[in-house]
Amino acid sequence: MKIIGLIGGMSWESTVTYYKIINETVKRQLGGLHSAKCLLYSVDFDEIEQYQSRGEWGKSGEVLADAAVRLEQAGADFIVICTNTMHKVAPAVQSKISIPLVHIAEATADELEKHRIAKVALLGTKYTMTQDFYKAKLIDRGIEVLVPEENEIETVNSIIYDELCLGIISEKSRAEYVRIVKKLSQRGAQGVILGCTEIGLLLRQSDTETPLFDTTVIHATKAAMLSAEG
Ligand code: GLU
Repeated sequence: MKIIGLIGGMSWESTVTYYKIINETVKRQLGGLHSAKCLLYSVDFDEIEQYQSRGEWGKSGEVLADAAVRLEQAGADFIVICTNTMHKVAPAVQSKISIPLVHIAEATADELEKHRIAKVALLGTKYTMTQDFYKAKLIDRGIEVLVPEENEIETVNSIIYDELCLGIISEKSRAEYVRIVKKLSQRGAQGVILGCTEIGLLLRQSDTETPLFDTTVIHATKAAMLSAEG
């Protein structure tokens, strides 16, 4: 089994989900008492969030690159950054290590291709929805990407940072997400990417008929499959 190097804590609420899915997948693949070989470097999210809101991506890139180097030195065979947003600094992280980084948007694009999705909506933090670093990975594969309208981008973003990253799950916010997903589907989205690793804690497939692509499930499953393949 390959050793997975996880950079987590962004937020820790979703890192718990990664750990669970990775172990469930390895168990499903290998059976019996098998569980995942993994290392976790969990950052202090307060520090990362402050860099984000100040636009100091270089500094947050240094923190994550340092974590990746430590994981490589500790024996990790590949790296998984357990958040969509922080893939903005994925190139900076990759440049400091000699093991591969399994990119969340590439794993998601693979899944969309498998389901023949040509037009998809993206929900995530405002950074993920409005900047290019994430969408470009999908557009490069010929997938059209829709994002919510401006005021809804604010709503989706603040529910992530003010509630989900703090472990708060509210019915009112779930209803807001369902309403936004419906509008995106009316605009022609064949599916919706839950492009923030906490959204799956709030929104489930049973809440909507629009196919949901949960990046936490996709990314964690891919990591576990790579590990189990050995
Ligand atoms: N976990 C979230 C994501 O997947 C947001 C937290 C962060 O800013 O990293 O984008």
